[in-house]
Amino acid sequence: MHAIGIDIGGTKVAGALVDENGTIVRQDRKPTPAGDSESLKQVVVDMINELADGTDAIAAGVAAPGFIDATGSIVYYTPNVPWRHEQLRHALEPKVGVPVIIENDANAAGWAEFRFGAGRLSTDMVMLTIGTGVGGAIVANDRLFRGGFGAGGELGHMRIVPNGLPCGCGANGCIEQYGSGRALQRYANTLADAGGIGQKLAEVRAKNGNYLHGADIGALIDDDDPGALQAVRQLGDWLGQACASFAAILDPQVFVIGGGVASAGEKLLAPIRQAFLQTLPARGYHPEPEFRIAELVNDAGVVGAADVARQHAISR
Ligand SMILES: [Zn+2]
Repeated sequence: MHAIGIDIGGTKVAGALVDENGTIVRQDRKPTPAGDSESLKQVVVDMINELADGTDAIAAGVAAPGFIDATGSIVYYTPNVPWRHEQLRHALEPKVGVPVIIENDANAAGWAEFRFGAGRLSTDMVMLTIGTGVGGAIVANDRLFRGGFGAGGELGHMRIVPNGLPCGCGANGCIEQYGSGRALQRYANTLADAGGIGQKLAEVRAKNGNYLHGADIGALIDDDDPGALQAVRQLGDWLGQACASFAAILDPQVFVIGGGVASAGEKLLAPIRQAFLQTLPARGYHPEPEFRIAELVNDAGVVGAADVARQHAISR
C-alpha cells in the first residue's frame, strides 16, 4: 500500500511515492515557484497526480514549513510562500484522486526518523534539526505531538538565555540563536578573530571572503582543526543544555539530531551528551536517553509526509 509525500522547500519541491516500509519507489523534484501561491499549488497538484498515476496510492501528505492547524488542513503561516490562513487541503483535494493531509515539515521529518530511522524501536523521541535555524519534532507515546492549535513542538524557540539575542520569531534568547548552523558560523568567526586555535579558521576565511560559512567550517571539522572543533563544542554545549530541559518535560528514550550540522556526527554528539549530563535535573537518577544522528537525511520530509498521510487514511 503506497502513499505520496511532498516536501515544499524554499528552493525546491520534492515528491515521492513511498511504500509502507518507508522505501521510496518513485520520486520527482521541481523548483519552487518564487512567491506565487497559485503556481506552487499547481506544482504540488501535478506532482501528486504524476506520482500516483497507475499506482495503488491511497493518500498524499504535503509537508511545508510554518504553522499548520491541528487537523492538517490549513496553513496559518509559512515563510517564503505567501500562504496566510490558506485552506490548502481543500484547494488540493478536488484536483487529486486521493485524500490529502498537510503537515509541518519538521514534524514530517521527525515522524520519518521515528518510524524508519534513528528513532525506531522507541516510543518517545525528540528530534532537533540543526539547519539555518533549529527545527523540532516530538513523538510522545507513539504519536506525533502537535499541540492544541497544531503549532506545538517549536523546540527551537524555547528561551534559554533571558534577555538574550533577538530571534526571528520576535522573542529573545531562543535556543535557535545559540544552537543553529548560523550560531556555529558566529562561533567560528569569533574564534577566527581571536587567533590561537582559531588561526586556521582565520586563514580559510581570508582566502574565501570575509565571513566563514557552513561549507568551510564543515571541511575544517572533517580535518579535526582545533578551532572548528571548539566551535562545534560551543554549539553542542548549548544544545545539550536545551536537551536537558526537554528531557525534564518529555523524557524521551532517544534524541535524534538532524540537519546539515549533524554531518559532524560524534564530534557534535559528544559535547551534547556532556552538557546534557551536567545539566539534567535529578542527574544520576534520571535514566539516560540515547543521542543519535538522523538517518534519513534528505528523504525524511517526503517519507514522513507520506507515512503521516497513509496512517491518517487508514484510521479514518
Ligand atoms: Zn525564537
